[in-house]
Amino acid sequence: VIVDAELRGRKVSVRLADRLVAELGDDVSPRPGDDVIDARGGALVPGLHDHHVHLRAALAAAGSVRLGPPEVTGPDELRRRLAKSASQARPWEWVRGVGYHESVSGLPDRWMLDEIAHHVPVRIQHRSGALWMLNSRGVDLLGLADVVDEAVERDQSGRPTGRIWRGDHLLRRADAPRDMDAGEFGVTEASYGVTGFTDASADNSDAHFRWIVDSTESGSLRTRVHVMRPIGSPLVRSGLVSTGPVKVLLDDQALPGLDELADIVAGAHGEGRKVAVHCVTRAQIVLTVAALKAAGSSGGDRIEHGSVVPRAIDRELLSLGAVVVTQPNFVDERGDRYLVEVDEEDLADLYRCGSLLEAGVSVAAGTDAPFGGADPWAAMRAAVERRTRAGSPLGCGERVAAMRALELFLGEADRPERQRTISPGAAADLCLLSAPLEAVLGDLSAEAVRMTIVGGSPVHGE
Ligand SMILES: [Zn+2]
Repeated sequence: VIVDAELRGRKVSVRLADRLVAELGDDVSPRPGDDVIDARGGALVPGLHDHHVHLRAALAAAGSVRLGPPEVTGPDELRRRLAKSASQARPWEWVRGVGYHESVSGLPDRWMLDEIAHHVPVRIQHRSGALWMLNSRGVDLLGLADVVDEAVERDQSGRPTGRIWRGDHLLRRADAPRDMDAGEFGVTEASYGVTGFTDASADNSDAHFRWIVDSTESGSLRTRVHVMRPIGSPLVRSGLVSTGPVKVLLDDQALPGLDELADIVAGAHGEGRKVAVHCVTRAQIVLTVAALKAAGSSGGDRIEHGSVVPRAIDRELLSLGAVVVTQPNFVDERGDRYLVEVDEEDLADLYRCGSLLEAGVSVAAGTDAPFGGADPWAAMRAAVERRTRAGSPLGCGERVAAMRALELFLGEADRPERQRTISPGAAADLCLLSAPLEAVLGDLSAEAVRMTIVGGSPVHGE
């Protein structure tokens, strides 16, 4: 029983039983043998759900060296950091760089990386997640010379250059998922009041799904995980883990035809699933909206990122019932670079939030961790302030009120546009804050999270 909590401005007590909210009101009092949590007037809100993260990448990033802005901004610092990590690695250990951006030193190939580190395998991930750059030792270890795969970039004589485009599947052999502890990420998330997250990777395999289920069954991972998976994957709901929408990656260099994309959408719907289409450019979202229309959407299909959403299609997004799953944190984390690099027309439509909501379009948020920072409260602040790290305003018309920013993380896993509420019969996934809601909304800091409860059990806090 949680006593003396503030819920929507009311003082209430809440009884949790059988993983659910059982009773709620001002007349609920503890019985002998009940565990009692005194909220001391702090607000109780539904546990946050981060609608877009990459679990495996987040775990790997924890053991990686950051090689991009703001920590690394030029070739000298790149060389220094990479050489240092390589000198500390054992010969068979991969050195893994993350967060790279071409503003540091172009797009290094294997030969350039060999000059910095040649005795250990090196792989560096572009911060977009779409490109890996390997040194020769890494190329050899993965046997790329003999791999027939268009993800492997080759020079004119057919040798792999070390660049792998959208080829995460080729790097599986470099990762040892069995050695990763999925619970580590759950602990991080729970510290932010997050009770569930959606793993938005496009290539989540059966083995990956099994690994997550095993991690929850062993008790190491204690938050809910909604897992995007390719079309044809079985619909599973197992304890804390559930099958999510069909993730569709788009790439402007190789866009599918309208019919092809519409077929995928229809196929997903036929499986009783939604689609989650990666849309970071104008062309991608226009194509996606056309495909959703052609396939017929009954609502809940997702636009991931929605980096550029032209206002002319707001009406169509609304009538399709589509949800834009945005990353407000990018305004803070990447905004200064956007102001330099993104052309004027796109800047006006960049990571829209407030104006989409005003147009009636559903919007939810995910941090895109580890490509974005994992703290959803930082994302909420960015949604409210719309300022870059250096303090420049970016899309002031997209600002939202603090409560609306919080609500971006309060949707259902499978229907991010539907707000969860704390009411009898709802899952006991809760975030207990250390102060009344109005005070917490004033600074939107993760420090206000006092306790995180998943299925009635505390997973973070006293
Ligand atoms: Zn992502």
